[in-house]
Amino acid sequence: MKPVMALVGRPNVGKSTLFNRLTKSRDAIVADFAGLTRDRHYGNARHGQHEFIVIDTGGFEPTAETGIYMEMAKQTRQAVAEADVVVFVVDARAGVSAQDHDIANFLRKLGKPTVLAANKAEGMQDSAHLAEFYELGLGEVEPVSASHGQGVRNLVEKALEPLNLPEEPEDGASEAETGVIKLAVAGRPNVGKSTLINTWLGEERLVAFDLPGTTRDAISVPFERNGQRFELIDTAGLRRKGKVFEAIEKFSVVKTLQAIESANVVLLLLDATQGVTDQDAHIAGYILESGRAVVLAINKWDAVDEYERETVRRQIEARLAFLKFADLHLISAKKRQGIGPLWGSIAQAYKAAFTKMTTPVLTRLLHEAVQFQQPKRSGMFRPKLRYAHQGGQNPPVIVVHGNSLEHVTDAYKRFLEGRFRKEFNLVGTPLRIEMRTSK
Ligand code: GDP
Ligand code: GDP
Repeated sequence: MKPVMALVGRPNVGKSTLFNRLTKSRDAIVADFAGLTRDRHYGNARHGQHEFIVIDTGGFEPTAETGIYMEMAKQTRQAVAEADVVVFVVDARAGVSAQDHDIANFLRKLGKPTVLAANKAEGMQDSAHLAEFYELGLGEVEPVSASHGQGVRNLVEKALEPLNLPEEPEDGASEAETGVIKLAVAGRPNVGKSTLINTWLGEERLVAFDLPGTTRDAISVPFERNGQRFELIDTAGLRRKGKVFEAIEKFSVVKTLQAIESANVVLLLLDATQGVTDQDAHIAGYILESGRAVVLAINKWDAVDEYERETVRRQIEARLAFLKFADLHLISAKKRQGIGPLWGSIAQAYKAAFTKMTTPVLTRLLHEAVQFQQPKRSGMFRPKLRYAHQGGQNPPVIVVHGNSLEHVTDAYKRFLEGRFRKEFNLVGTPLRIEMRTSK
């Protein structure tokens, strides 16, 4: 499971600036897809070999007792409870405030690994400025400038240190193909996740192992269906109770994100009676960002009339346009309608995610694409696309080598993506295309 870092602090200290710096999108191609909602509060970050999830908690007023601040405080508490490490951000220029003391007290009682970051510290050579922050009783102060990018690497290093993370392979995005499909069923509370899973587990063709287990925090259930092995990853709001899964009350975004990260394929479940909500779009955006293969299913199709069905279809087109590469199923978990064909899509998405693409074939396709349509000249530069190799699986990554590739437009990258997708039949998986200019 990816470690989780929560950014905590009062409003205006620079948390979202720091968040944006930490989660800088790793691939431009994702950036301008129609309808892609980026969740402002959850993101992926990378530090050297390590990947982690960052949560921006908004403004935290631990003592707030009413209104929006109380709600924010509640959510911050949950985020902090689920985080492995907390970065407490204070404003180096403004000095220590009463609110900072409140937050520090809260964090000290919690006893989680906490790093204190004094932001807006650019140009503050004089560390005497920072001395007053020691009175917060959280140890050393890390001076950073989120907007200038200074001290951020140090900060992350220090924050991750107590977690003793194992070394990861060079290309962290690259997954090994094991033949066991790690599957996560994701979705908001009440969309029907447990109903679907229990329907599945009740199927004769499905052999679940170790089901009678009593471990409460089982994180996965292995099973086999028609000779294909699966591992069902325990998702947010779901818990095994004896032989069945049941929804637990508290929905945890962090658990959802971690389950998505641990999966090869994510079955994203939506509720037809609710349409596409912001939260659905956020989860979908996160799946795309993490590169997992995805199958989309709209549940409770039995409970909506023709007019509502049309509305849902239109919402999907408008808000989930960036998942056009994924299969879409209209199902009823309760009435067991349309759920058989999900398996085919899951298997297809897995296969696509682990497609092997050789350098000669990729390079030939690249040259054919360029012959069909040249990349645009940008000022004095015309990008020259020379060859391509595969840089990873799940998601497949295609690395294009050449000169002046920083001038390749997003539109052209999408053109390339379309050609590669078609050629390799990449249904159900995101595809990343990286441009690497030779020096
Ligand atoms: P948040 O409310 O804690 O998320 O704070 P924001 O990230 O929205 O930042 C609040 C203000 O501080 C914005 O005007 C930022 O531009 C500014 N800011 C953020 N980081 C820095 C920094 O490192 N140095 C300076 N001078 N200003 C910063
Ligand atoms: P979860 O929180 O995502 O695990 O959702 P549940 O599986 O607990 O389902 C929430 C509610 O939706 C329950 O009352 C289910 O009976 C109902 N439900 C689940 N699937 C369907 C369906 O296909 N059609 C209808 N009409 N209701 C469903």
